[in-house]
Amino acid sequence: MSDRVIYLDHAATTALDRRVLEAMLPYLTTEYGNASSIYTLGRHAMQAIDASREQVAEILNCRPTEIAFTGCGSESDNLAIKGVAQAAQKKGNHLITSSIEHHAVLHTCQYLERLGFKTTYLPVDGYGRVNPEDVGRAITDQTVLVSVMYANNEVGTIEPVAEIGRICRARRVPFHIDAVQAGGALPLDVSALNADLLSLSAHKFYGPKGTGILYIRQGVRVLPQMQGGSQERGRRAGTENVAGIVGAATALRLAYEDLPEITPRITALRDRLIEGIMKIPGSHLTGHPSERLPNNASFCFEGVEGESILLSLDLLGIAASTGSACTSGSADPSHVLLAMGLPVALAHGSLRLTLGKENTEADVDTLLSALPEIIEKQRSLLV
Ligand code: PLP
Repeated sequence: MSDRVIYLDHAATTALDRRVLEAMLPYLTTEYGNASSIYTLGRHAMQAIDASREQVAEILNCRPTEIAFTGCGSESDNLAIKGVAQAAQKKGNHLITSSIEHHAVLHTCQYLERLGFKTTYLPVDGYGRVNPEDVGRAITDQTVLVSVMYANNEVGTIEPVAEIGRICRARRVPFHIDAVQAGGALPLDVSALNADLLSLSAHKFYGPKGTGILYIRQGVRVLPQMQGGSQERGRRAGTENVAGIVGAATALRLAYEDLPEITPRITALRDRLIEGIMKIPGSHLTGHPSERLPNNASFCFEGVEGESILLSLDLLGIAASTGSACTSGSADPSHVLLAMGLPVALAHGSLRLTLGKENTEADVDTLLSALPEIIEKQRSLLV
């Protein structure tokens, strides 16, 4: 085993980019002011937040005032969904989402159901795609929000969000996009996406953990979920994480600057992985064959447990996942794979490999040379 971990789990999190760390360091050391303080040190902190907001707004093609910084992607999803639902309670009590969302969305809808809301969970096809026409059919005069993810965190399928947004806009229903997996990989122009709200999380694109972003289109009412000070224009109380905000904005800017170089390279590595792994007997590609994240290669293998594959790969210094980081360790098969119609037994044999900018062809080849034997061995143990 080499000293270097072959990290193939970039959908779970990414390493902080050194350039991002450099940008953050002053705000962790010398520029430690509270952005609410009126003296120079405080004003420096506020200026850094304002500049970060402008950088993010440029990438999302929106006004800086439409950007709120939060504590993570989950918080952005919670604020978007609870905030809009609770602000619109007098208008209606119906939510629409998909059956393959991240738990940050699904559990938030379930929470609102306990408060009297009703949720329609849209089905997906065998590739994990929502049919936009289903969204149109599900909207009623009680619908206060539609929330559909940009790209799925387990199988990488890209959803037709711009089309869904077009339908929502025509029916005057706010549309939230959970873009946590798409951030740094796919275009984020909120106007082209017809988005009213959009969630991001910095640690998915080489930024720091502990900083989320929520785009809230001007005019969309969101009830704050945190009471206290008037930070973030009253949308999120609490002293701002200045270093985290600077890190999130810097990471987002760098991700889109680097994109033209990185996307073709990562896509080629992903396709090499898929081609090699599909030669293993009893292997199935999960997710859409072409409408998928450039870095996502996910599979199900007949007659094996995904968790056992992970442990064997770990012994070789390879980090991978069965799918969602939040469900790993639980015995239940993934709700995403089941919603896509996979049989329960096959869904137990899932493996998600998500590439990042530091991965090489050698990493892919190491995985490809190790995996067939691991699977064969697991199958022989289970017979
Ligand atoms: N939404 C999606 C699609 C995700 O993949 C994740 C994290 O994996 C989240 C939301 C939650 O983001 P965070 O880990 O920043 O809370």
